[in-house]
Order: sequence, then structure tokens, then C-alpha cells
Amino acid sequence: MSSVDEEDIHVPKDHPRAESIRIRERLIEGFKEGFVVVAGLIAHGRGEAFDYILGEKTHKFAKIAEEAAVAALLLAINPVISVNGNTAALVPHEIVQLSKLLNAKLEINLFYRTKEREEAIKKVLEKAGAEKVLGVGDSASATIPELSHSRRKVDPEGVFIADCVMVPLEDGDRTIALRKLGKQVIAIDLNPLSRTAQEASITIVNNITRAIPEMIQITQNIIKLSANAG
Ligand code: ATP
Repeated sequence: MSSVDEEDIHVPKDHPRAESIRIRERLIEGFKEGFVVVAGLIAHGRGEAFDYILGEKTHKFAKIAEEAAVAALLLAINPVISVNGNTAALVPHEIVQLSKLLNAKLEINLFYRTKEREEAIKKVLEKAGAEKVLGVGDSASATIPELSHSRRKVDPEGVFIADCVMVPLEDGDRTIALRKLGKQVIAIDLNPLSRTAQEASITIVNNITRAIPEMIQITQNIIKLSANAG
């Protein structure tokens, strides 16, 4: 769970949009804590609209993409999961758990990068159990070409050397730049028409709040199967 206490959210259980409102509350809390930006709230609105149209459920095409993504991350030599403010607000514990299961590094990558936001997201991830968080402060010292100043910064231990990068809720420019560097890019994006969704190697069209828990389950199943097989 995020830092929001369920008790504090006065959403009636039988409200038809209860889950959607709870998700909004987590982002509002992240905004108040200073690590979700206004643009993040607006970007969530775009995702939410697609989720509404798609029936707020995991479709078969999303499940298949999640399985492919888990396989790609397990097969990668240097897998990295990129984390932004919305991801930290919505699935902090889940993203940390998935990174541990996949042996993937966690790296903070922000469209609107400030030292305060980096530190706040690092704290959220650490509180959720992360042992190491890349991309904070001076450690984001490498650059990827063709991007404007703060968005090109990456960690030399993380995205810079990664062969497979999962970029939940990413923007199109970074996805294209990472692909041009020959990296496999996994996107989680409810908008199948976005440049990110169109340009990624594997696109999961699902809400991140469903996709990450499902990927945890898929990974645990694969680990169990390979333990039984060998
Ligand atoms: P692009 O640059 O790729 O064309 P964009 O301009 O829409 O896309 P952003 O404004 O960065 O990019 O928006 C982030 C994307 O994240 C949106 O396409 C939105 O559909 C998606 N999104 C927002 N919230 C969620 C969520 N909870 N789960 C999955 N996707 C989401």
C-alpha cells in the first residue's frame, strides 16, 4: 500500500467508482507529499479515461503482454524498472516486490526532475522495502542522446547499461530514444495510441494497478515451475 491510510479515504464501499476514486486519492496524497506533479495528475486522467472505455479489467491481450514482459525481464542480463512519481504513488510495494523477484534494478526517471522529488520517491521506495534505488542526484550522471536536458539523465549502473527496461507511464520521446540505443522497452500504458505504446518492444495496455500485481503472480508461477522442473 501507499502511504495513504485506507481509513482516511471516505469512499463508500458500495460506490460504483470506489476503486477508481481510491486510486485518485493515492495520487492526490503523492501530490501533497511533493513527488507527484500536476502534469502527473492530468496524465492519470488520460489513462483513467481509457481504463473506463476498456471496462476497467485486464483483457486477454494485456495478460499475454504481461507474460511476454516477465519472460523478457527474466531473460535479460541487465533488467531495469524505471519509476516515476505516479508509479511510486500507485504501486510502491508491488514495484519493489516485482523488482526483487525479477532481480531487476529500480531507477528513478522523471520528466520533471528535481532533487526533492528524487529524494521523496527514493524514500517511498525504501519504505516499501527497496534496498537500492538508482537515478538519484549525482548518480544520474550518464546521458542518453536526443533528449532535452533533465530527461536525458540516466544512471550508469542502471538504464545506461540495461538491455531491457520497463517504463511504466512513460513519454514517447524517451521510449524512442531507448529503442534507438538497442534496448528492449516494455511499456505499461492504457492508451494504445500513444507513441510510447506504439514504439515499445512490448506494450501492456492495462492499468498499472492491475498489471504489476499480475506480473508478480506470473513471475512467482514461473519461478515455481522452474524449481519443480529442475
Ligand atoms: P506519448 O508521449 O507516449 O504519446 P502521452 O503524451 O500521452 O504519450 P504522458 O502524458 O506522459 O504521455 O502520459 C502518460 C501515459 O500514461 C498516458 O498515455 C496514459 O494513458 C497512461 N496512464 C496514465 N495513468 C495510467 C495508469 N494508471 N496505468 C496505465 N497507464 C496509465
